[in-house]
Amino acid sequence: MDRIPPTTRKQLRLLGYKGTPEDLRTFQAAKGFEPTGTVDAQTKRALAYSTKVHAKKPDLFLPGAKNASVLAAEKGLKKLGFDVGKLDGVFDQKLADAVQAFKKGHQGQLHNIGRYMGNPVRSIIARASGIAQPAPVTDDGVRKTPSGLHWPLGKEGTIIGRPYQGTHTRGNWQSDNALDLSVPNGTPVYATADGVIGPRIGDLSSSDPALLGKRLTLETNGNAFYYAHLSKLSVQAGQHVKRGQLLGYSGSANGAPHLHIGVEHGDPQKLFGV
Ligand SMILES: [Zn+2]
Repeated sequence: MDRIPPTTRKQLRLLGYKGTPEDLRTFQAAKGFEPTGTVDAQTKRALAYSTKVHAKKPDLFLPGAKNASVLAAEKGLKKLGFDVGKLDGVFDQKLADAVQAFKKGHQGQLHNIGRYMGNPVRSIIARASGIAQPAPVTDDGVRKTPSGLHWPLGKEGTIIGRPYQGTHTRGNWQSDNALDLSVPNGTPVYATADGVIGPRIGDLSSSDPALLGKRLTLETNGNAFYYAHLSKLSVQAGQHVKRGQLLGYSGSANGAPHLHIGVEHGDPQKLFGV
């Protein structure tokens, strides 16, 4: 049996797998079923249930899945002295073993000590290790924000600069009320909300290494967002854009590949949930 039904493949993909027959067996084993690789009634029900839960709260953790929260759990378990193998955000065999070993030590707080890593396990790991879980991410890896703004990048990234700290002390909101998000050069940059591209757009044209790349301003209903250090722009001044629309691609400044995003009104940390 090397083929699986398209619906099943789609469900597996929604859960963070590639959708291969091996993934189906991995899913079955994680659920405590016999890993037959055949979609029987029990597997069908479990897939339907898991994808429904995952759609609302995309942070389900089954062996084989890969996401930022798995990485946080890996880091947490490593800090607690467990062997988790490579820190790659993949729920692999090594991590599953570590999860089970961790669960055995916390039996009183848990319903079972299987290899599955649900929300309760992850929060216990987070509390025990002090390594916090990131906010839930959507299926394409884009972070959800508490304000409903679209995450400005095609990757979650790492915060390397916060408002009014470090280089964010030039005396204007564009520079100072800002976040620096470390992502590889060429990461897609997205509109946080519906809006219009402002007139000041293009090269930062400076010999200052802190002011490299291209910049643009997105004027939205009641706010404005300043994006800087882009390597490529995909929009023009005066263009109307939709929330989540591609604005360009990230670049580098000060020797660090990152996106600088400034916000005119409100604390960007609260708006983006970081
Ligand atoms: Zn910055």
